[in-house]
Amino acid sequence: MSQNPAGGSRRDFIRQTALTTTALAALPASWLSTSETPATPAAETPWYRRTLRWGQTNITEIDPARYDIAWWRKQWKRTSTQGVIVNAGGIVAYYPSRMTLHRPAQQLGGRDLFGELCHAAHEDGLAVLARMDSNRAHEEFYRAHPDWFAVDAGGRPHKAGELFVTCVNGPYYDEHIPAILREIAERYHPDGFTDNSWSGLGRGTICYCSNCRRQFRERSGLEIPRGRDWNDRAYRAWIRWNYDRRLQIWDLNDRTTKAAGGPDCVWAGMNSGSIIGQCQSFRDYKAICERAAIIMLDHQARSDAGGFQQNGETGKLIHGLLGWDKLIPESMAMYQAGRPTFRLASKPAPEARMWMLDGIAGGLQPWWHHIGAYHEDRRMYHTAETVCSWHQTHEELLVNRRPVASVGVVWSQENTDFFGRENPDSLVELPWRGITQALIRARIPYLPVHADHIERDAGRLSALVLPNLGAMSDAQVTSVRRFVERGGGLLATGESSLFDQWGDARADFALADLFGAHVIQPRGPADDAGRVRAAADTVHTYLRLAPERRALVDGPRSGSEPAVRGERHEVLRGFEETDLLPYGGVLDPLRMETGAHVLATFVPAFPIYPPETAWMREPKTDVPALIVNTTAGEGRVAFLPADLDRRFGRDNLPDHGDLLTNLMRWTSGGEIPLVVEGAGLIDCHLYHQPGRLILHLVNLTSAATWRQPVHELIPIGPLRVRVRLPQDVRGGRARLLVSGRPVTADATAGWSRFEVNSILDHEVVVIS
Ligand SMILES: [Zn+2]
Repeated sequence: MSQNPAGGSRRDFIRQTALTTTALAALPASWLSTSETPATPAAETPWYRRTLRWGQTNITEIDPARYDIAWWRKQWKRTSTQGVIVNAGGIVAYYPSRMTLHRPAQQLGGRDLFGELCHAAHEDGLAVLARMDSNRAHEEFYRAHPDWFAVDAGGRPHKAGELFVTCVNGPYYDEHIPAILREIAERYHPDGFTDNSWSGLGRGTICYCSNCRRQFRERSGLEIPRGRDWNDRAYRAWIRWNYDRRLQIWDLNDRTTKAAGGPDCVWAGMNSGSIIGQCQSFRDYKAICERAAIIMLDHQARSDAGGFQQNGETGKLIHGLLGWDKLIPESMAMYQAGRPTFRLASKPAPEARMWMLDGIAGGLQPWWHHIGAYHEDRRMYHTAETVCSWHQTHEELLVNRRPVASVGVVWSQENTDFFGRENPDSLVELPWRGITQALIRARIPYLPVHADHIERDAGRLSALVLPNLGAMSDAQVTSVRRFVERGGGLLATGESSLFDQWGDARADFALADLFGAHVIQPRGPADDAGRVRAAADTVHTYLRLAPERRALVDGPRSGSEPAVRGERHEVLRGFEETDLLPYGGVLDPLRMETGAHVLATFVPAFPIYPPETAWMREPKTDVPALIVNTTAGEGRVAFLPADLDRRFGRDNLPDHGDLLTNLMRWTSGGEIPLVVEGAGLIDCHLYHQPGRLILHLVNLTSAATWRQPVHELIPIGPLRVRVRLPQDVRGGRARLLVSGRPVTADATAGWSRFEVNSILDHEVVVIS
């Protein structure tokens, strides 16, 4: 499939390293978690490596009076549940605690609800996680220890409704919570612990309590910053200090529960599926995954902008940090979560089901979640059953597998913080969403790659994408350069590499030599306005494609200068009948290196209204919008100063998606291991297990693709599928795990070909 035979040596290398490994035991170290230990016999495998289906009845304060444990035990069985998350303590206790300020839940009475549930679940062979909620307390606690609580600059306590918010730097986290953890671990022996809101006050609020002031001064020699200013040394130090403190809390809690409950009694917190969410909670995802035995993912429903596909992507992104040998159960709402939220109404079954299925496709484990132990809308009890029972039947095909993809999309949490600053949605999230949506739409399997893991993951990738990855450290820049020197392809957009790891503007793109383009007017390091302007909402600008082809096509002549003749570059394939594309952003001039090919230039804004004024004032500029280069190492580099990734994420124009797709195909030299033909929006996830490939095809096509909830599922098909075969997969046999229909596969020339007749929600194909 390579369109560049000279690139053979690298392609062969990719094929060997990415596809020939035949056993998980022989996975390269990069596929495993950082704390990988030798395989243990099944009976000794700890709960966090074998509990594949979870359930949670999130107990409200009225539930102790009405919790029907016998019924829920049947529900655990019906849903093939292997582990439960049970509310234990924190804001309120669901057991009779000895600790005076650990207030019992309103309706607890004398009941030991946590103890009863823990006992019942253990009797049924389930793992039990004691759930904590440790970041706020009632007024009597505040009166007893006012210095344990977060305060504003005027010394007034931060409140959340009736409750007072505790400070992460006080004894509440150092002594009170560990004491509760010990009490629960010693009395009930849960298998481990989770915590709903362990990381305390978010980034939006600054605490000025005496503990914070003293500890920050000791650490940095500085005073707590007065407000949010990303160019202020104190604010940057405060951000790092806050991240470090959350890791300390993680480690302290984990040490505490292991000391009290044994080496497998891990404390697993909870984490978000949103990187912006993790930033705002000071949760360093990479550092957390380096120390976590399991990630308990609190990411319950989709947003309209992200779609179901965001869930599968979240699975891939976190596995990239955690290792593909560990588990990531995800809390999946059975109630109407998201926009709008109705805690006691069932989420429409197709909506809840699709969120579960796309998460499973991305390597997440199902975890059904109800708020409250008694429901008058009983429909929500049925949603998880079929998904979980299907999951149980095929569970060995759904874990311990390695993804197959040739495109890596690079990200980092530091970029979200220090480049995104106060605008991470438009600066970081939109470009990411545009690129990944273009990949999904083109059925090109991809992996999120952390910028610090480029070296680790490079061997199995044929191209990297930097989607407006503004903030990059020197080391990350070096990794990208080395990847291209070895023959890898690169697509970089917008302001990639223009900022250092603190988000200070560099004088030029750090990758200017690869881009073939240089900044003419440096911005000065503290330029926040420039990046915000580049990400601003859509304006009436265009891109002019080169060379123009006006003389060769049918249409009225303008009477202006003659159109330029010449062949167009292959990345402009499909745009033969246009010399213009809608754009929407703004661009500054760049200084070009000789040998760089400019394939599109910028047309500045002109009026839209009234129609009489809608003509180009400046039809042509030499401001580059798209540049392609082939480097000495045969790496193909495309630099797209025009932020078409952000524009596609925002405006959903097919031209933007098509051009991004062409660029990704070209930079990866055609090295894409999957081809799916047939109408529909399909989220494709491809995996390898010894001797077989596993392909998830999730049907995202519906009347509610971009507006939840989906009311009904609409089938697609037939789809013609081709998958490139690793050496240990023969490819002559395909099995459909959902429809069960027979299918004929044909293996020739290193590819397996087959047809999937129809897909309602999802299909999983096992190719062997
Ligand atoms: Zn404080």
